[in-house]
Amino acid sequence: MKQSNVLCEPNAVILEAHGLVRVYGGIRALDGLDLQIKRDEIHCIIGPNGAGKSTFFKMLMGIEKPTSGNVLFNGKDVTKLPTYARARLGLAIKFQAMQVFQELSVFQNLFIPLRRHYKPKNIPDEAKNLLAQLHLEGLEETIVGDLSHGQQQWLAIGMSLAAEPKLLLLDEPAAGMSHDETRLTASIIQKLKSKGVTVVVIEHDMAFIRDLNATTSVLHYGQLFAQGSFSEIEQNDEVRRIYMGTL
Ligand code: ATP
Repeated sequence: MKQSNVLCEPNAVILEAHGLVRVYGGIRALDGLDLQIKRDEIHCIIGPNGAGKSTFFKMLMGIEKPTSGNVLFNGKDVTKLPTYARARLGLAIKFQAMQVFQELSVFQNLFIPLRRHYKPKNIPDEAKNLLAQLHLEGLEETIVGDLSHGQQQWLAIGMSLAAEPKLLLLDEPAAGMSHDETRLTASIIQKLKSKGVTVVVIEHDMAFIRDLNATTSVLHYGQLFAQGSFSEIEQNDEVRRIYMGTL
């Protein structure tokens, strides 16, 4: 695979998938997916159930390996790298399922990932910085089980940010959130972008995608079906047809 040489361009590509195929038994969850994510953008991925969205994230993080095809991160082919090596290069993921420790405090939850990257004396300040970004100011001592669902999701995002990733993958971050929490989640993601984190979001909640107002890719049967601004995608009749009127 030829390595990308687009790093010096202002809108250089941070992530590339080339011809990704992932077969499970007889199912082609990914069927030759080609997709590029630009640095410092928010990029939304939508598509019908079973389109291959979560499988794509698994390939990006190395949680599972593709049957064929390649993943390039910052121009480097990472297809064969394990998850921890990709994390060291700056890739992070927040899964849909809750990844927080319910019985520990907010600070204790953040302490666990932060201690891998900071000296103990710097951790309280780093935790405070993260909490300020996540609408969780002053909640250090609160037991996580006492937080709302949305606050717990934001804390999980904070734990993914502890390693200061360059690219953050969020799988349905607004699932189960109230309307207000959903709006705040969109503003948290916008702020991450302004701090130089590229964010890729899988989501079914179209109001949330509309709030993000970002480049949107539509997956269908494991391939890229359409790509454009959200308003372009929203007005695309073919996309509306495969999404059965959910747009
Ligand atoms: P949803 O929006 O419902 O979460 P998705 O777009 O994320 O769907 P995937 O979860 O990536 O879709 O699944 C794509 C296809 O691959 C589906 O048909 C699914 O049943 C299948 N699949 C995914 N993981 C596995 C697995 N571990 N074993 C067998 N089939 C799988």
